[in-house]
Parts: sequence; C-alpha cells; structure tokens
Amino acid sequence: MTLDSAAQRHLIRTVAERVIRHADELVALDQAIGDGDHGFNMQRGFEAVLAELDQYSAMTLGEALKSVGMALVKNVGGASGPLYGTLFMALGRSMPPDASRAGVAQAFGAAVEAVKARGKSDVGQKTMLDVLVPVLQAMREANGDLLSRLRTTAQAAAAATVPMRATRGRASFLGERSIGHMDPGARSSELIVQAVADVMEGKA
Ligand code: ADP
Ligand code: MG
Repeated sequence: MTLDSAAQRHLIRTVAERVIRHADELVALDQAIGDGDHGFNMQRGFEAVLAELDQYSAMTLGEALKSVGMALVKNVGGASGPLYGTLFMALGRSMPPDASRAGVAQAFGAAVEAVKARGKSDVGQKTMLDVLVPVLQAMREANGDLLSRLRTTAQAAAAATVPMRATRGRASFLGERSIGHMDPGARSSELIVQAVADVMEGKA
C-alpha cells in the first residue's frame, strides 16, 4: 500500500468526516455511561484535522499522522484526547515510508502499546483498547481477507464491550451499572477502522 498525497488526504479526510458524522451517536453512548461529551470532543478534534488537511499534502504519511495526533491532543480534550493523540502520533512515528502491510501492522502495534502505557490500561476494561487490540490481531493474522477481517473484527469487538464492566475511565465510576452499554471510545475506534477499510476498498 503506497499512498500518493491525494490518497493520503482522502484517507485522513474520510476518517475525520466519518467520526464527525457520528458525533450524536457517540454523545448518546457517553450519556449512558459517562458525561456525554465524547461525540463533541471527537468532533472538535477532527474538525481541527480537517482544517489542517491542506498541510498534510506536503508530508509523508508518517508526518501527516503525527500532525493528526497533535491536532487531536490539542483539540479533543477529555480522557480520549491524549489517548487518540498518542495513538496517531505513535503510529506516525513508526510508519515506514513504503507503508508495507507488515510495516503498517508493526507501526499499529507500537501505537497500541503507546495507548496502553498512556492509559495504564489493557484489554478487558471496556475502553477503546477492546477494539484496537483485536483489530491489531486481525491485521497480523489476515491473509487475503484483510479488509473483511478488519470490518468484522472491529464491529464484533465494539459490540463485545456491551456486556463488559468498565474498570478504566469515567464509566468505571458506575461499577456494575456500566454493564449493558457499548463503550463510546470502542465505538469511535470502530468508526475509524471502518472508514479506513472503506478507503482501502475504494468504497469511500
Ligand atoms: P472523558 O471520559 O474524559 O469524558 P471521553 O468521553 O472523550 O473522555 O472519552 C471516553 C472514552 O475514553 C471511553 O469510552 C474509553 O474508551 C476511553 N478511555 C477512558 N479512559 C481510558 C484508559 N485509561 N485507557 C483507554 N481508554 C480509555
Ligand atoms: Mg466523556
């Protein structure tokens, strides 16, 4: 997968617009088990990304992803801002120039580790990591079926947060009452993965 600057711009733009389009849904999810701001936070962050879109054209994919991460850190806020910022910055830092399949998987692995370190969190705690970690696993294991694996894994993983009890983030304050709702950050991670898969498949 080598991205020219137009494809790179299209990819970042599609991800940003997808998250923004689902802001109300993310707010509703966060109203159930948090403080209801996740959709607004993510919308603000990705609007800042869209405002910088032209600057990304002159950058390598790695540099552009680092800039996306910095825009998210500065503009998302909440718990998710530093975590998504870390994800994109670490992804950008580790992204090889040729963006080979193996290289992308390795860079995504480094990015997921960075989120774990930053959040002092791991799988099973009802957070974005419950989507990011299975998606990483799917990237490592997939053969010819990468896109369908990414899609089904992201969707199933977000759904699988519904019966979980949160032990990290604001939802953990609810204890047992966090059970029965999808984690907002898991859903926003799913949206990002689905948007990337759509672009790779030429559907968006
Ligand atoms: P806040 O919780 O500060 O209101 P947001 O509502 O924007 O921030 O984001 C909440 C999401 O952040 C959660 O749904 C969860 O997925 C994610 N999250 C919170 N804390 C952590 C953590 N320690 N590690 C990983 N993800 C986390
Ligand atoms: Mg919130």
